[in-house]
Amino acid sequence: MTINFDKNKDGLVPAIIQDVETKTVLMLGYMNDEAYKKTLKTGLVTFYSRTKQRLWTKGEESGNVLQLENIKIDCDNDTLLVQVKPSGPTCHTGSDTCWNEENTSSFGFISKLEATITDRKENFKSNESYVASLFEKGINKIAQKVGEEAVEVVIEAKDNNDALFLSESADLLFHYLILLQAKGFSLSDVVKELKKRH
Ligand code: AMP
Ligand code: ZN
Ligand code: ZN
Ligand code: ZN
Repeated sequence: MTINFDKNKDGLVPAIIQDVETKTVLMLGYMNDEAYKKTLKTGLVTFYSRTKQRLWTKGEESGNVLQLENIKIDCDNDTLLVQVKPSGPTCHTGSDTCWNEENTSSFGFISKLEATITDRKENFKSNESYVASLFEKGINKIAQKVGEEAVEVVIEAKDNNDALFLSESADLLFHYLILLQAKGFSLSDVVKELKKRH
């Protein structure tokens, strides 16, 4: 890809920083050719800071670096979408994003939850984690759990207790996410299937 660094006289292009998992927009910075190349070389997002008037690797003081996942260029080659894995809060105020916490979609949270489930599956023993213990018991047991939670949702749907209905709904979704992973899928595969029908 050829980035048009010459469009602005200062040789800078805007770089929108997005969490690769949750899709939350984290911050906006500017890159020149050197910052862009350093980002690719080090795998850590580096801007040209207009305030500091030098290359600025995000997290160089705070340690809250942005690990590069991929860079996409826009339709006319003058703006970058940089997808990252943040290693802490991105904003210097201590928030995850520079546009406050409401700048996150529900589905983004689900993606985070899916990543946590993967982490429990891969890095935890069954005596350390409920999720790990479910994976150890296997697909049949997980599927059975989804069935039980679904029945509980049905029971609560018939009653007039919204709190219990929501609580059982959360149980169901949580165990369903685990079942999807046990089968090698994620919720986005289900969403793709739904989009095909739409
Ligand atoms: P850091 O790169 O996280 O070590 O932060 C170094 C300095 O850069 C901070 O003291 C702030 O002045 C500035 N800074 C950090 N994060 C941001 C941000 N998301 N947006 C604007 N300025 C920032
Ligand atoms: Zn553009
Ligand atoms: Zn900020
Ligand atoms: Zn339940």
